[in-house]
Amino acid sequence: MNENLSRRRFVGAAAAGAAALSAAGWAAEQPSETPAAGPRTRSILDAHVHLKHGNAERTEYSAQVIVQTMDAVGISQAIVFAMSTTTKRSMEMAEAAVSQYPQRLIPYVYALPHYERPVIHEIEAALKGRRFRGVKIHVGECTLADYVIDPVLKLAGKYGALCLVDLGGRLDVAQRLAQAFPDTRLVIAHMGRYLAKDAALVDQFIRLAEQHRNVVLDTSGVALADKIVEAAKRIGSARLVWGTDGPHADPDTVTFARNELNKILKLDLAEADKANILGGSVRALLGLS
Ligand SMILES: [Zn+2]
Repeated sequence: MNENLSRRRFVGAAAAGAAALSAAGWAAEQPSETPAAGPRTRSILDAHVHLKHGNAERTEYSAQVIVQTMDAVGISQAIVFAMSTTTKRSMEMAEAAVSQYPQRLIPYVYALPHYERPVIHEIEAALKGRRFRGVKIHVGECTLADYVIDPVLKLAGKYGALCLVDLGGRLDVAQRLAQAFPDTRLVIAHMGRYLAKDAALVDQFIRLAEQHRNVVLDTSGVALADKIVEAAKRIGSARLVWGTDGPHADPDTVTFARNELNKILKLDLAEADKANILGGSVRALLGLS
């Protein structure tokens, strides 16, 4: 990625976030399903929502439940994707959800190798024309070996899509991908590993983001909230992206999402940084603001 260009983009995101807060505060707007009047820089975007989870039950949530939860919490938009299914089915699920709520939901395609047919053409079809804005990859279902995932990373770079990768703590893979694909924005889920309590490990992922400007950290499922504050200071909030990793029914979808939102609101950070983390950053990365 061009250094100057990315710096401008990141500074722009920070400015947009600050303007958003001073103009609107955190009373998130509730967009209706009428066409958007303008860029939605003033509202909260959940950048990690599952139409289908990777848990043992393979829990699915309808678009309706997702949007009702967003409405109750005050979340304007969400990035949605399915896992634990084929690439093809993940596209069908996301497209059905987005056709129901085109102003609220943004689709990612799930990248998973298939024995019966190559999925790379399906992923390319999804990214072409910017119909799908990102790709989800999960170490739990897909080996992260170069001969499997590199074509996907390359494709994401070609189409300007974000690559949200759950690495399960695999720092070595993160290092290789960050270095091998400088033009691909690599969004590292859970700042490295889901609910990690290992501060040193999280620290190494922040360090990786310091070294590579194409690395973005997803703050969903982060147990050590202080590390989000530290990351904002070290890499800037324009490369931090909030998500609930929901919906979760424990205790209920609304309380779960609200708790995840409050985690960020409670942080000892400037309001402009919170605005970036809660939507400004990912909108800038996706060219939505
Ligand atoms: Zn997830």
